[in-house]
Amino acid sequence: MEVTKAAAVLRADGLHRFFHAGDDEAVALRDVSLEVAAGELVAVVGPSGSGKSTLLSVLAGLDEPDAGWVSIAGQRLSRRPEAERARLRARHVGLLFQSANLIEHLTVEQNVVVAQRFVGRAGRAPVGELLEELGLSSRRSSRPSELSGGEGARAGLAVALANRPEVLLADEPTGEVDSATESRVLDLLRRRGDRGTAVIVVTHSDAVAAACDRRVHMADGRLVA
Ligand code: ADP
Ligand code: MG
Repeated sequence: MEVTKAAAVLRADGLHRFFHAGDDEAVALRDVSLEVAAGELVAVVGPSGSGKSTLLSVLAGLDEPDAGWVSIAGQRLSRRPEAERARLRARHVGLLFQSANLIEHLTVEQNVVVAQRFVGRAGRAPVGELLEELGLSSRRSSRPSELSGGEGARAGLAVALANRPEVLLADEPTGEVDSATESRVLDLLRRRGDRGTAVIVVTHSDAVAAACDRRVHMADGRLVA
C-alpha cells in the first residue's frame, strides 16, 4: 500500500501547449499531469526539446497552457490575468534558472529586497537569516559581477527563496557550475525540502536527479513514469 502523502502543494492537470510557426506546429506539452507534495523533491529529466522548460514556465504561470490548469497552494494559477498570476507567483513560487536572475547594478542584499517588493512583510524571508543560511553573509554588499560562480549560484537561490515560496522551480540550476557548487546547492535544496518546500528541478545531472525523492521523464511533450 502506498504511504499517505502530504497534500499536493502543486497540481497540474491535463496540460497542453502548442507553438505555431507559420504552418508548423510544435507540441511542447501533451496531456501532462503532475502532483507534488510539500517537501517533495522532484527531478524532471529528458532529452533537449522534450518540453521540460515549457513545463516549468507553465507551472510558474509565466506561460499559459492551451489546455489544462495549474494550481499552487490551493489557488488556480492558469487562465487568470497576467497581473494576478504575477502576484500569485511572487507569493508562492521561487524561480531559479541557470543564468541567475540577479540585477547587475544591485548588491546581493538589494537583489533579495527587490524580489520582496510585491509581497507583504509577513511573506518575506528575513534577509539576514536567508543570506546566512546560504553562506552569503560576507557577500551581502557585493555586486553580482564580484561573486564567484558558486556565490552567484547561491545568490540566485537567495532571490528565489526571498518570499518563502511553497514551490521552488529550477531549470538546470547547476548546469554551469563545478561539482562542489552543485553539491552545495543540492544540499541547500534538500534542506529546503526538509522544511516543507516542494522543489521541482529540471536537470541533466545524475547527481542531482539521484538526490531527489522522485524522477519523472519527459519525452516528446509527455510525462512518462
Ligand atoms: P526542453 O526544455 O526539454 O529542451 P522546451 O520546453 O524548451 O524543451 O521545448 C519543447 C518544444 O517546444 C521544442 O520543440 C521547442 O522547439 C518548442 N518551443 C518551446 N518554446 C517555444 C517558443 N517560444 N516558440 C516556439 N516553439 C517553442
Ligand atoms: Mg530547457
